[in-house]
Amino acid sequence: MDFSELRKEMVRTQLLPRGIRDRRVIEAMLKVPRHLFVSESLRYRAYEDCALPIGEGQTISQPYMVAVMTELLELKGNERVLEIGTGSGYQAAILAELAKEVYTIERIETIAERAERILRELGYQNVYVFSGDGTRGLPEYAPFDRILITAGTPEIPDVLKEQLNDGGIIVAPVGSRYSQQLVKMIKRHNAYKMEFHTPCVFVPLIGEYGWKEE
Ligand code: SAM
Repeated sequence: MDFSELRKEMVRTQLLPRGIRDRRVIEAMLKVPRHLFVSESLRYRAYEDCALPIGEGQTISQPYMVAVMTELLELKGNERVLEIGTGSGYQAAILAELAKEVYTIERIETIAERAERILRELGYQNVYVFSGDGTRGLPEYAPFDRILITAGTPEIPDVLKEQLNDGGIIVAPVGSRYSQQLVKMIKRHNAYKMEFHTPCVFVPLIGEYGWKEE
């Protein structure tokens, strides 16, 4: 299969018609080999317009959702980014193409280990993978310029807002356990401006400041 051709097709049919415009985001989506972040048996479906299973009941997000969340972060190249919900590691790789450093934390240890291995094999040296409850953030590495939550959360935890620099941006799917809306929160002088974007469905963020395990 010509995966590079499938990436071009993905950008042309899924991202551009839905309004993704940031040139750097498009370049990253054209470059990162998404098929290497899913199991071999699912590679042929890696560029389809949907989320795919990655084991343990978790998913790699739909390409459009990855692009739109990344675009909302307005990355210029010099940022330190915290991602909560490493999953496959694909979103972390996209962020690593566009920012200075990416700190990514995953609740399920086996998933974190797998993502770390793939990112290492692909040569990413500016991504640091952690295993643990990301709802608490990573206070020992804070503050961050951007925070991206890639699991559905009832609200944006205060402890994460505190780990954000002034002028920083948090993007998160906020809502109920089963459906959310993408929220962009901009911090200025300890005040927060909220913007509401596309509806979405993410697996739940489970942890001290997220949902409880069922
Ligand atoms: N960004 C991922 C990717 O590129 O493949 C997709 C993330 S997947 C939709 C959500 C992930 O968040 C799951 O792997 C899940 O285990 C993880 N998660 C849920 N609650 C978490 C928490 N409290 N801390 C860290 N990760 C969490």
